[in-house]
Amino acid sequence: MADEQSFDYIVVGSGATGCTMANRLTANPNIRVLLLEAGDVDTDPRIAEPGNLVQLWGSDLDWKLQTEAQSGMNGRQILINQGKVIGGSTALHAMMWVRGNRRNYDEWEARGAEGWGFDALLPYFKKSENYEGGASEYHGAGGPLSIRDCPDPASRSEAFMVAATELGYDGPYWDTNGERQENGAGLIQFTITEDGRRASASEAYLEPIRDRANLTIRQRALVGRVVFDGQRAVGVEYEHEGQLQRARAEREVIVSAGAFLSPKLLMLSGIGPADQLRSHGIEPIVDLPGVGQNLQDHLQLPVVFRLKEEQPNPYILTGNVLFVNTRLDRPDAPPDLQLNYTPAVPAPLAPVLNLPVPAMIFLPILVQPDSIGEVRLRSANPQDLPVVNPNYLQQEADVQTFVQAVKLIREMVGTQALGGLAAEELVPGSEGDLEGYIRAATSTLWHPAGTCKLGTDDQAVVDPQLRVRGVEGLRVADASVMPRVPSGNTQAGCYMIGEKAADMILNGLS
Ligand SMILES: Cc1cc2nc3c(=O)[nH]c(=O)nc-3n(C[C@H](O)[C@H](O)[C@H](O)COP(=O)(O)OP(=O)(O)OC[C@H]3O[C@@H](n4cnc5c(N)ncnc54)[C@H](O)[C@@H]3O)c2cc1C
Repeated sequence: MADEQSFDYIVVGSGATGCTMANRLTANPNIRVLLLEAGDVDTDPRIAEPGNLVQLWGSDLDWKLQTEAQSGMNGRQILINQGKVIGGSTALHAMMWVRGNRRNYDEWEARGAEGWGFDALLPYFKKSENYEGGASEYHGAGGPLSIRDCPDPASRSEAFMVAATELGYDGPYWDTNGERQENGAGLIQFTITEDGRRASASEAYLEPIRDRANLTIRQRALVGRVVFDGQRAVGVEYEHEGQLQRARAEREVIVSAGAFLSPKLLMLSGIGPADQLRSHGIEPIVDLPGVGQNLQDHLQLPVVFRLKEEQPNPYILTGNVLFVNTRLDRPDAPPDLQLNYTPAVPAPLAPVLNLPVPAMIFLPILVQPDSIGEVRLRSANPQDLPVVNPNYLQQEADVQTFVQAVKLIREMVGTQALGGLAAEELVPGSEGDLEGYIRAATSTLWHPAGTCKLGTDDQAVVDPQLRVRGVEGLRVADASVMPRVPSGNTQAGCYMIGEKAADMILNGLS
């Protein structure tokens, strides 16, 4: 084993949350940080080009996780892409900037995540932002991430927004990252720079600070284990260029490896359900039954109409959105439906969809799933991917959200605004078996969360300061700590978690 180097903090994983932590912690020149990333550097030119994202899926920059057969989806196994590169999943994601609903975070706090209600989190959401519309009560300016209202004119659709207003929703041009998210139709905001490049976590949070003397970044470094001295985390063991290496953390190890790989790393390190660990020959350091449980993900379903007249193909996947709560028996719940819309087939998807005619695409997304799954260890070998079982569409309420979504879409297509543009329904088709289509055609929106949840109950893995329960010197900060997945794409929540975690650590020091 090579010589052990020493740092104050070791951050495992350079995704949305890990890059944020690395940036904010090293703003203090007295704090030495080692950022370890299993993937390689993000120099592939396709990363920066927003229209190229589909080409990155399935490449070497992707972990390519495969679920177990999903009985709610006719036994299909779903491929879940996840970034394996500096920048993590933000290097190959779809760049939509969606904060989620106030009620999501107030619900977190009500379930024991003290200090994580919406009002307390808003300053951290704003801190990430450099919003092109400038600073306001609900937006930040001057932050690392360039946020723009859908910059692709071909992806914007006033017709969609006006159609929503014909049905009684607010809009057009409703700011869904503003005071109220739900029941207003607007443009989606994107993490895209002013000159049209992807604003990944690496571009926004690492590039500007790469020359800080107190930051060490090591790529192609797969962390296999957190090293303990008794109950205290004192470093990590990682594989780099075929060699097993160790690094020492004088203060803390911070695990930011994402919702699938953070619970895996904890379990490999002896933290998790004791029976499961023992069955792989791992001696438990602390029996935490919640590690790997509470897995939630968003699902998407394409609903396609023929266009009466051809429209220009956007380079962005979708530009317009409306959030609705379709669950009338839960009037106070956050929206369960995110309805995205693109007025023509996006160029990046054209080869995949291969539609014979011009088409408009609605993309209903189930954003408050009742179906909950789990992540388990496949083996004690760090090279093996974990077993992922999201239990997609196990709960009938989740299927019903899509049924309600398709009804709403058909109403929208019946409005004056969209009726002039839409011809017949191509998919699922008005005569088809809707539930059959839902089970056959849903797929992941790549938003896994919840597998190391924060809280105070028996299933909580981290406390409200994100410290792993039962040990010292170890935190988790990434999508896995979300007690419940928010109503909307998850990157904004991950940056927020990074901002808040760094703030808690820095304030704890002073
Ligand atoms: C295809 C796709 C499209 C998406 N579209 C959007 C979107 O449009 N808008 C949105 O808001 N969100 C989107 N997301 C989700 C968003 O990217 C994630 O929610 C967010 O990046 C999660 O941040 P994270 O810090 O939890 O993990 P990640 O960003 O996934 O980062 C985790 C990092 O840890 C590294 N790692 C894992 N294990 C180890 C280990 N043992 N040792 C060292 N390093 C390790 C990984 O390689 C990775 O770089 C999308 C995701 C994907 C995959």
